[in-house]
Amino acid sequence: MTKKQKKNLKRIITAAVVLGLLLLLTEVSAISSHIPFPENAIARRILLTLLFLVPYLIVGYDVVLGAFKKIGKGQIFDEEFLMMLATIGAFAIGEYPEAPGVMLFYQVGELFQSIAVGRSRKSISDLMDICPDSATVLRPSEENEGKLEETEVDPSEVEIGETVLVKPGEKVPIDGIIVEGTTALNTAALTGESIPVDKTIGDKCFSGSINMTHAIKIRTTAAYEDSTVAKILELVENSTDKKARSENFITRFSRFYTPAVVICAVLITLICALFTNLSVSQSLYRGLIFLMVSCPCALVVSVPLSFFGGIGAASRQGILVKGSNFLEGLAGVDTIVLDKTGTITEGRFAVDAVHPNEIDADELIDIAALAESRSNHPVAESIVKAHGTHIDNSRLGEVEEIAGKGIRAIIDGETYFVGNGALMNEIGADFHECHLPGTIVHVARGNARNSNLCNNVTEEKAPEYLGHIVINDVLKSGSKEALTNLRRAGVKNVVMLTGDNEKVAEKVAGDVGVDTYFAGLLPAQKVEKLEALLEKKTGNVAFVGDGINDAPVLTRADIGIAMGALGSDAAIEAADVVLMNDDLAKIPVAVKIARKTLRIVKENITFSLAVKIGIMVLGALGIADMKLAVFGDVGVMILAILNALRVHRTRS
Ligand code: ADP
Ligand code: MG
Repeated sequence: MTKKQKKNLKRIITAAVVLGLLLLLTEVSAISSHIPFPENAIARRILLTLLFLVPYLIVGYDVVLGAFKKIGKGQIFDEEFLMMLATIGAFAIGEYPEAPGVMLFYQVGELFQSIAVGRSRKSISDLMDICPDSATVLRPSEENEGKLEETEVDPSEVEIGETVLVKPGEKVPIDGIIVEGTTALNTAALTGESIPVDKTIGDKCFSGSINMTHAIKIRTTAAYEDSTVAKILELVENSTDKKARSENFITRFSRFYTPAVVICAVLITLICALFTNLSVSQSLYRGLIFLMVSCPCALVVSVPLSFFGGIGAASRQGILVKGSNFLEGLAGVDTIVLDKTGTITEGRFAVDAVHPNEIDADELIDIAALAESRSNHPVAESIVKAHGTHIDNSRLGEVEEIAGKGIRAIIDGETYFVGNGALMNEIGADFHECHLPGTIVHVARGNARNSNLCNNVTEEKAPEYLGHIVINDVLKSGSKEALTNLRRAGVKNVVMLTGDNEKVAEKVAGDVGVDTYFAGLLPAQKVEKLEALLEKKTGNVAFVGDGINDAPVLTRADIGIAMGALGSDAAIEAADVVLMNDDLAKIPVAVKIARKTLRIVKENITFSLAVKIGIMVLGALGIADMKLAVFGDVGVMILAILNALRVHRTRS
C-alpha cells in the first residue's frame, strides 16, 4: 500500500468507529433513552446533523471538495457530484446515519480500486525495473596521466564509443558490444525468456539485460536515449494513452449518462410525490436511492483496469502492446500474415555450396561478404559470418541496398551486384539458376545494363557473372507448434509472404503448415498482397515481420507485430505489438491474452449494467433501501475489479 492508501484506510477506520459509536448513542434505545436529546424537533435535527457530520466529513471531505471544485470548472455531472448530492439529500430527509455510511462504502470502493490499479501498474513497472540507475565508464583520469579510471555516472551522460564496465549482478546500462570478458546475460526483463544467454567478445548486449556471471567491458553503440531500455520505457509509458474503443465508449457513456440519471431521479421524486400517497421525504428518498445506484463506477474503473491488466500480463511475457486499442484489435484477429525469413525461419543461413564462375570460391565469398558487410539483412549477416575472417573495409566504396533483391557495392573501385535472380535479371547479367534447393545469392561484376541501377550510362557489355552461393535456412524450432496454437486460439487463416524464391517458399510453407503463400515478392508487393487480404477480410489482419525491410507492411496491417525487436528500431517504431524476442510462440499467447481481456471487459459491462438496472428498478419501486443501493454499487465494483485482475493470470 502507498502512503496515501494507508492514510485513506486510517480515515475509513476512524470514521467507521465514530459512526459506530454514534449509532450506539442514537439508535440503540437502551442507551439513547438515557441521553437527554432536545425535545424540540428542530433542535434535535440540528444536533443529529452536526453529530453525523463528524464521521461524514472525516471520510468524505475530499469528495465534497472535489465535487465543488468540479462545479467551479463547470463539470458537474460525475460520480463525486452524484455522491455529494445523494448524501446531502440523506441529511435533508433525516436519514442521518445513511450519509456517512454511504460515504464510507464509497471510500472503501475507491481504496480498493486504487490498490487494484496500483497492482496493475506495478506489473508494468516491474518491467521498468530494467532501468539502470548508473553506469561505470572507464575514462582517462586527469591526475593519473590519462590512465583509465572507473567513474560512476548517470547512464545518459555516457557517450557513444565509450567503454563501460558491467559487473556481475548489474544491469547493462547502454547498448553496446563486448570488448573484454565472457559472461551470461539474463534478458528475462526484456524478453520474458528466463534462460541466460552466453555472450563473449564481439557480441551485442542490450541495455536492460542483467549480467549474471563475470565482469565484462562493453563499447557503447548508442546513446542512452536511443538504447533499448529507453525505447521500451517510452513505449510502455505511452501505451495507456491509446484508448480502446470500449474505453472511449465508457467516457462518452458517462457524459450523457450522469445528467440523464439526475433527471430520472428528479422525475421519480416528482412522480412519487404527486401521483402516489408517499410523503415528500419518502419520495425524495426514492429519488436518492436511484441516484446512488446509478454511479457508473464499476464500469469506469474496471474497463481501463482490464486493459491495463492485459497490457501488463502481455509485457511480462515479453510482448509489448502499444495501446489498449491494439489489444482490442488483436482480440479480433482472424488472419495472420507472416514474413518468412527471420519470422518462420531462423534467418541464420548456412552456406551449402559455392559455385564460382571463372574465379575461385574464396574470392567469390570474399566479394560477397565485403558487399554484405554493411547490411543487417539476415542473408547478409549469414554470408559475413560464413566468411569468418577479417573483412578489409578499406576496399569497400559506396554501398546501396536494393530492398528485396540484394546489394550494389563498389569494391576496389569496381561495381558489384550481389543478390537474387530478380536482381540479375534487372541488371542484365547472364546468370543461371542453381539445381540445388535453397536461397541463391548471385554475384556479378560490372555496370548494369538498361536499368535504373546503371547510373544512366548505357553499357555496351553485360555485367560479368561470377557465380553464386547456395544458402539454406532452418525453421525455428517452435514454428509449427506456434501455428497450431494460433489456430487453436481462433485464427482461421495463416498466410506467408516472402521475397525468396518459389522453391524455398513451397518447402517452408509445407513444413510449417500455412494455408497460402506468395513468393518472389518485393517489399512493395508485400504491401499489395496485404491490401488484397484486407479488402476481403472478415476479421482483423495481423502481419508479423522482423522489421527489416517490411516496415511498410507492418504499418499497413490492422495490427503490425514485430518480432526480435531487441535492437531493431525500425520494428519498434512501425509495429503496434512488439515481441522482444523472436519466438513465434508468443503470438498465440498475445492473441489469447487479448481475447481474455476483451471477454472480461464485456463480462464487466454486462454484469454491472444488469445489477445496476436491477437495483435502480427496485429503488424506484421502493423495495431497495439506501444501504442495499450502495452495497450493490460498491459490491459490483469490487467484483468487476476482481474479475479484471484475472487477466494477470493468463497462462501461456
Ligand atoms: P523475406 O521476404 O524472406 O524476408 P526479403 O524481402 O528481405 O525476404 O528478401 C527477398 C530476397 O531478396 C531474399 O530471399 C534474397 O534472395 C534477396 N536479398 C535481399 N536482401 C539481400 C542481401 N542483402 N543480399 C543478398 N540477397 C538479398
Ligand atoms: Mg524479411
